[in-house]
Amino acid sequence: MILPKANRLTAEQLAEISRIVEDFGCRIQPIVGAVRTIYAIVGDEREELMIDRLEGLGYIDRVDKIQSPHKLMDRRSDLATHRITVGGITLGTELLIIAGQCTIDPKNPQLFYETAQAVKEAGAQVLRGGVWKPRTNPYAFQGDVKSLDILLEAHRRTGLPVDAEVMDEQQLKLALDAGVHMLQIGARNALNYSLLRAAGRAVAERDTVVLLKRSLHMGPLNEFISAAEYIVSFGNPNILLCPRGTSPTLDGYRNHPDESITPLLKEKTWAPVVVDPSHSVGKATYVPACALAAVAYGADGLCIEAHVSPSQGIGDDPKQALTPAALALTIRQAKQIWTLRHPVKVP
Ligand code: PEP
Ligand code: MN
Repeated sequence: MILPKANRLTAEQLAEISRIVEDFGCRIQPIVGAVRTIYAIVGDEREELMIDRLEGLGYIDRVDKIQSPHKLMDRRSDLATHRITVGGITLGTELLIIAGQCTIDPKNPQLFYETAQAVKEAGAQVLRGGVWKPRTNPYAFQGDVKSLDILLEAHRRTGLPVDAEVMDEQQLKLALDAGVHMLQIGARNALNYSLLRAAGRAVAERDTVVLLKRSLHMGPLNEFISAAEYIVSFGNPNILLCPRGTSPTLDGYRNHPDESITPLLKEKTWAPVVVDPSHSVGKATYVPACALAAVAYGADGLCIEAHVSPSQGIGDDPKQALTPAALALTIRQAKQIWTLRHPVKVP
């Protein structure tokens, strides 16, 4: 990582350092943060001669070598000062709530509009809605591109930024072109490296936020953090890490709840953690406790499935979705735990 003396390199300076690193098989990836631009050396940055040449340039302060498989996501990275803001919330300063239906029913847009309004009134700042759905059963409803219009209409009606999962490059393009604010990479695709790369490339020049779920089968934390590094290495550092339960399941729950990994993630990476209690436990009655536990473990946000009338829902909604009243109560209680964990510091 190259730290210039000024906050940004000029085009000529960038061209000069690019020429130097290219001689050593590397390239420069600028990553525009909220405060400053970070210049990551992509490739093996340990070559002494390359570092000497870079540090010899008058406008370079120093070259940081972080010996980490995820040097941009690492807590010691210069990106650690980057702050992500979405729905008016700067992650880390206030609890972020993403809520909405698992699946938008294209035959019943009205229900989604009502859910959107209800989650807003309950205190959510981002509206989620499944357009395309990864389904275990190939004959189950797979989602419908028509739901993209419904999602964006709900955004216009409520003013809430919207989040939807994408599973391939075509969906990525459609969602971004439509103006989706937050892209979700789901648990099944968190190990799909070509999709991670495509997502990184697609959001590189935008301020889109990516919500990266933890794969059902991810073990070591480095695997999760490195998946995020794939996306961030293309230049957009707006990434949220989302534990959502893993396999094998805990008898009685849909998955093995993993909100307890939050403090471990925070020791290794600066990225905000947004826990999804809905897919973790898989049943509406268990979701509030899991959500509160997540905040107690230090989560920066929650992603909760909610529906104005769960019994009329499709996908996961009949089983998992909270009613607006249950969501409002969970948000209130989650904020109380947040306040306990973030006492106001008296100077
Ligand atoms: C979802 O958010 O509805 C979903 C399918 O999530 P996951 O990828 O965590 O299973
Ligand atoms: Mn779901």
